[in-house]
Amino acid sequence: MPRLRLGGLTPLTTIDFPGQLAAVVFCQGCPWRCSYCHNRHLQPGRGEHKLVWGEVISFLHHRRGLLDAVVFSGGEPTLQPDLPAALREVRALGFQVGLHTAGVYPARFARLLPELSWVGLDIKAPWPRYDGLTGMRGSGERAQHTLQLLQRSGVPYECRTTWHPGLFPESELQALGEDLAARGVKRWTVQPCRLPGGVPVSLP
Ligand code: SF4
Repeated sequence: MPRLRLGGLTPLTTIDFPGQLAAVVFCQGCPWRCSYCHNRHLQPGRGEHKLVWGEVISFLHHRRGLLDAVVFSGGEPTLQPDLPAALREVRALGFQVGLHTAGVYPARFARLLPELSWVGLDIKAPWPRYDGLTGMRGSGERAQHTLQLLQRSGVPYECRTTWHPGLFPESELQALGEDLAARGVKRWTVQPCRLPGGVPVSLP
């Protein structure tokens, strides 16, 4: 049985996999440190939550015919070595499989692509601002590589950017949208960001 470190489960959502009724499995652990992260409890490699994979599978057995899909979110799901086995198990139950990722591990992501029905790829910021926002050198290159792999795969996807004027100016947001369009991205969602304490912060 796959050994996933899990941070929680949302039993039903209509917004995490477009057009599908889905459950969301939250994976524990993320190596990036985005300033606005609203899942900070999922950043450490190990968390307080005691949910185990067997409980998720048991839950899904009872949701066959009621749910369309299971979305793996986080945290950063591709951090976990057993994720491919978990995706295969979910597919074998008849569910579509969605993935939320920031593109942290492109090579691992490439190996997951055959199992995926849909991907929501976070685009954190204009490329020159990536390292400052994520706290990780080279993070923008990783996200761009992941986007290229995704586009070559033919797996349906959308890019998603969380934005607040305190993160970077609206003019840069517009330029980012134009950059993504020039790369062939057809669906880009911008979601509002609530900064910690509601106070805008300036990033380098
Ligand atoms: S990549 Fe996602 S989970 Fe990781 S720190 Fe950034 S917002 Fe949080």
